Parts: sequence; structure tokens; C-alpha cells
Amino acid sequence: MGADAAVERGGLLLKRVLAGVPAGENPLTHVEELPERAATVAAWPSWADKPVRAAFGRGGVESPWAHQVAAAEHAHAGRSVVIATGTASGKSLAYQLPVISALTDDPRATSLYLSPTKALGADQLRAVRALDLPELRAASYDGDTPMAERDWVRAYARWVFTNPDMLHRGVLPTHGRWATFFRNLRYVVVDECHAYRGVFGSHVALLLRRLRRVARKYGADPVFVLASATVSDPAASATRLSGVDCAAVTEDCSPRGARTVALWEPPLLDDVAGENGAPVRRSAGAETARILADLVIEGARTLAFVRSRRGAELTALGARRVLSEVDSGLADRVAAYRAGFLPEERRALENALASGELLGVASTNALELGVDIAGLDAVVVAGYPGTLASFWQQAGRAGRAGDGSLVVFVARDDPLDTYLVHHPSAVLDKPIEATVTDPGNPYVLAPQLACAAAELPLTPACLPAFGDGARAVLDDLVAEGVLRKRPAGWYWTSHQRPHFDVDIRGSGGDQIAVVEADSGRMLGTVNPGSACATVHSGAVYLHQGTSYVVDELDLDSGLALVHAENPDWSTSPREVVDIAVLGTIDRQVHQARGGEVTVCLGEVAVTSQVVGYLRRLPSGEVLDQIPLDLPEHTLRTRAVWYTVSENLLTGMGSGQAGLHPAAVPGALHAAEHAAIGLLPLFATCDRWDIGGVSTALHPDTGRPTVFVHDGHPGGAGFADRGHAALVPWLNATRRAIAACECPAGCPSCVQSPKCGNGNEPLDKAGAVAVLSTVLAALTN
Ligand SMILES: [Zn+2]
Ligand SMILES: [Zn+2]
Repeated sequence: MGADAAVERGGLLLKRVLAGVPAGENPLTHVEELPERAATVAAWPSWADKPVRAAFGRGGVESPWAHQVAAAEHAHAGRSVVIATGTASGKSLAYQLPVISALTDDPRATSLYLSPTKALGADQLRAVRALDLPELRAASYDGDTPMAERDWVRAYARWVFTNPDMLHRGVLPTHGRWATFFRNLRYVVVDECHAYRGVFGSHVALLLRRLRRVARKYGADPVFVLASATVSDPAASATRLSGVDCAAVTEDCSPRGARTVALWEPPLLDDVAGENGAPVRRSAGAETARILADLVIEGARTLAFVRSRRGAELTALGARRVLSEVDSGLADRVAAYRAGFLPEERRALENALASGELLGVASTNALELGVDIAGLDAVVVAGYPGTLASFWQQAGRAGRAGDGSLVVFVARDDPLDTYLVHHPSAVLDKPIEATVTDPGNPYVLAPQLACAAAELPLTPACLPAFGDGARAVLDDLVAEGVLRKRPAGWYWTSHQRPHFDVDIRGSGGDQIAVVEADSGRMLGTVNPGSACATVHSGAVYLHQGTSYVVDELDLDSGLALVHAENPDWSTSPREVVDIAVLGTIDRQVHQARGGEVTVCLGEVAVTSQVVGYLRRLPSGEVLDQIPLDLPEHTLRTRAVWYTVSENLLTGMGSGQAGLHPAAVPGALHAAEHAAIGLLPLFATCDRWDIGGVSTALHPDTGRPTVFVHDGHPGGAGFADRGHAALVPWLNATRRAIAACECPAGCPSCVQSPKCGNGNEPLDKAGAVAVLSTVLAALTN
């Protein structure tokens, strides 16, 4: 295929897909042609020895790309570094090169590799072993490592592959047994570091500080090499995560084929009405099934990413149904893929897709990592996967050098998806989302400091690494009798180590275990703060795409018992929520003609009580409302909020026509919903990680107020990020609402699936007016 033909390939596929769109519909909101990019290679660094280069050469790397060398040079020179480039840009080599060189130059040197998942760690270990340099003695040390092997790893392994959970529970508490390893520790590799966000990320940040403290005790000061997806300001995120200053390498010099990226918004349906009479769009899954079928007919090898397992299966089924009318042979070449496949099933699927035996696969996000599928003709992403990093990871499965490909993003009915299809630059330009962590959160800091003190007594000299709030948290721990203060520092007093009581993936407090009653199998855990809303009796609970129904929630024993069932309806809780301001950290007053807007960041107490739930059909129709008798729950966390003086809203004094006072509650409520939907564009969070409260008169502010708060005790950095990015965030919120063509509000703009108030009252036009007023005051 010639270069021009290759470039046109994606456009051609898109044309064929559009040919199947019913007359009168125009789902395409934007098409972008991303040109082919040639590779920029660089010479091997002079310090990389011949045998090391030869090993990479055997693995198929003739000469490295420039960004790999740039990152490796930083690391070799002793500067911690983060490499933040796209999928398949060879980030592994960037850390392998300096680590392997160090291990071959100095026969005593050791290194540590950390990955967020065991599967990724296993893949990376396999890749290192394939280089066939036995002197590296690379070995894994995780929950699956047999006890007999663990002694060998501690004594002899030189490159240990593990994860934060094992570092926390299995390495640092017994650092004395790792003395030789720590004494010679040269590098710490933190792979996929954008995965460490929110509460989990805050725990990992403190865990890395504990790691550095232990290494220093043995006389080592390791260099950190972090690998990240492309995010906003990776140097700052990496520095906050690792606790050491990190340089950033962000220019991707790997080759890439030409890609056509199409943004697609399913049309509103004429004859279906959803909650409160709102219009309904054709579902992203149904739209994706049809696009998948059209691409298969063209012979294009296509992967469709769908959010749930059931959705993936329905999408594959829908595509097969369309195809069976065209050619029954084609229908058999479409399959669904989900989590839980055995490794051999995964390999079989990879091979079938690579050979063209399979043409179309509908998959959950389970396929995102650790699967060897690339170079496809087309990828369809049904619904924003939560972060741009995930989006490009999925889209990156399409295209290879010299060949064009198509990426279609199909919006779901969600304000963030609406915003993205109408603002292509948010998808296609430099990412604006930042990986958010808050290592200063006292709810995270307290258990982490207890673990640190149990590892080695804390001295005043250690404290700066743990942040400004460390001293106050230590004083509390002493007052509670957890630690003892002596002249030399703070000491752990008990014989039992605290590590096993600290769940670094949870948010503090006892988790509620979700257990399948019949088998006794534990499916997962839920935060105590969200248990009443997500696993109340009768709730439909999704786990890895499989549907369960909750039989019983027992808060005292911390158990939710469920059984597998796939009812026609979904459930949504009804909640009464109150918010009280405990303290204000930052307060800015902005004058406007006719009044003022105040913006605050602070600490709040959110009191909520789940009072019932709705059962709802996929069409949006509500079956019934069922009352529940559950206790109140109070969450102390951080929030960002703004108040608007009433005169400014209702327009008195400014001469403009303002909101009718009766419209104010619905306008604020709609503005709150959409703002929650859009915050994940700026902070790597899920809309379920945050919450909001809006009121026409708040007792603590005395004004109409909109709060957006973190969903975790002490906060996870999301409210802080919202405060820092307030103007672009509210701007995007206003645009998302205004871009939706529905008349008076729908799930694509101001309705929220998690509204505790039945999405009432909501005033779409009023929300645009409120946001315009606030933005005018903030920017004048
Ligand atoms: Zn709408
Ligand atoms: Zn609401």
C-alpha cells in the first residue's frame, strides 16, 4: 500500500461506516486526521556496554528512540525522571537500559520494580528474562511467590519485581532480612505511575517515602525512574508521588501510522422518554454494534471497547445479528472478550485477531493492559473510559507505521462525553487531566506514619519528607497511645506490626466485604461511606461486568451478601444529604456588578442518609421506589464551593434579566451535577469519587451555594484540583450543558445517575445562567 493510500485508509473506513447511518441523522461531531509520524532514533549511550546492546539487539531493537535515550541518560546521571509518552512507545526500554547497565557494571547492585497489577509485573519480568542476561537474577516477589522461593529472592535476587501491596506488607516491615538488597539499591522503577491516584495514590506516595527512609538507613539513595501515560505536568505528579525531584521526558519519538479519529454522538430518539420526561439518546452500545458490523463487512480488524461485560456481550451479539443478514460466515468472525479469561484463552484470541480469523472483538477494559494486540485497522471506544490515558491506550491498538487506521469515539449519555465530542481539542491536544494524589491527607498519613515508626523510629529529621502536617498527626498518634514520644523521636510500642491493618487500596476505616452467599466467594470491598448507597439490600451490584443482587447489608459485621442475578432493572439510591463547613482554607471574593461571587476551599462534614431506592428499566423508565431504613453516615472531607449573592442571580441591580427566585434551586442543582460530571476531565477521578450539594440558602454561607466535595475521608486531592482549575472546569461545565441539544435537561448534560434527589429540581437554562454569572465574576 502506498503512503497516500495508507493515509486514506482510515477515512475510507469512516465513509463506509457513515453510509450506514439513517438519512437525517448526523452523529459525527468532528473528524481529525492525525498524520503519520516517523521515528527519531538515537545512538546507544556510550555507557551502555556491548553485551547489553547485543541483548536488546537480539530482542529486535537495533537502535533506541530518542526519548528512550533521553530518559535513560537522566537516570544514569543520577537524576530521577518520569517518562510520559504514548502507548507502545517503548517506555520499558527507557528504564531497562540504565537498570541493566548498573546491574552488569556492578555485580552487587540491586534494583526494585513496582507495578500496580501483578499481571503487568509478570509481563515485564518475562520481557527482562527474555533478554537472556542471567547475571541480572530478576525475580518476582509477590503474593504468588512460594514461601520456599522467598528466602532465595531476599538473599540473591538483584532485580526484584513486586507491587506496592507487597512492598507495604512483605518487604518494608522486615527490612532487616533485606539488608543486602537495600544496601546496594540503585534504582526504583515505578511503572504505570498514573495508576497511583486518589487515596491509593496517596498511600503509595507515603509508601515510597518509607522506602527511601529504609534505603537510607542502609546507606543507599536510589534513583527513581517512573513511567506514565501522557498526563498534564507529569514532572509535578511524579515529584509528588515519589517525594524526589523528577525531570520529565515527554516528547514521543516512536513511529506511528496515520490515524483518522472520529467523534460520534448518538442521536436523540423521538419516541422514548426517560427520567422526568427527558429525551433519550440511542445507546452507545447499540451504535457501536452497528459500527462494528460495518467495519467487519469492510474486512477491517476491529476492537470495540465497551464499559461493562454485559455491554460487551450485547455489542458482539448486536454486530453478529446485523452480519448474519449480510453473510453468516462473517457473523462467526465476531466475538466478545471479558476479564476472567484464562491465559491460553487470551493467547488464542490474540492469535485469531492477529491472523484475521477473527475480524471483530467487543471487549471490556480488561483488554487494556497486558494483552499483545496492536496494529488493528480500527478501534471503537464506546463511552469515555475515565481518563485520556486509558482512551489513548485503547485507541493505540489501532494503526501501525505505514498503514492508516480509524478510531471512533462514541459518546455515552454523560456530560463529560458530551463535552468531549463537542470539544475535540480536549481529546486531541495536550492532556489537561492531572494525576491527583494528596499525601498530606491525615487519614492516610496517620496509618502510614504508624507503619513508618514500626519500621524505624521516626526522628525530627525524617519529618519533612512526610509533609507539613506530619507533626500534628504524630501528636495525635501519641495522644491516642499508638506511638510513644521519647527524646530521640517517635516509637512504635506494640509487639504487633500495624501493616496488616492498613489497606493501601482502601480509604481508611473497615471496608464492607461483598460476598457471594452461596459460594462464600469475596467479590470485592466497598468503602463504609458508600456502602449504604451501593450495596443496600435490593441493590443491583456490578462486579467485573457481572450482575449481582444484594440480599442483605449488615453494617455491624461489615458484610454485604449477594447472589448472581441479572434483573432487567438497575437501582439508584435516594439520599438526604447535608453539608456543614468545618473550616475554610482559602477564600477569595470576586466583585461583580450588582453583587459578588465567593470561592472557597475547605473542610466539611457531609452527613447523608439513604432513605430508599428506585428500580429503573434500561429505557430509563422508573418501575417503583422502595423505602429503606439505614443509619446516617458522616464524612469529614475537603470541598470546593462557590457562593453567589442572590441579587446577582436574580439580576436585580445589574439591569439584566436574571433568574426567577423560584428557579434558583434547580439552576444551582443542575450546575452542581454537570460540574461533578466534568471534574474527571481535570483530575484523574471518577464521578463516583466525588459528590456535591447545592442549596439556595446555606446556613454556613448565608448565600446560594454549590459545593463539590471529595468522597473519601480527609479528601484525596480532587476538591483541591477543582479549586486550582476552577475557571477552566466551570467553563467546560457551562459548555457541556450548552452543547447538549435536549430542550430542558437529560443525562448527557444535567441529569445525574447518582442524584440522591431523583434529579429534581433541575433547570438547564438556569444552570448556564449561573455558570455564566460566576465565570464573569471570576474572570473580570
Ligand atoms: Zn441534555
Ligand atoms: Zn442531585
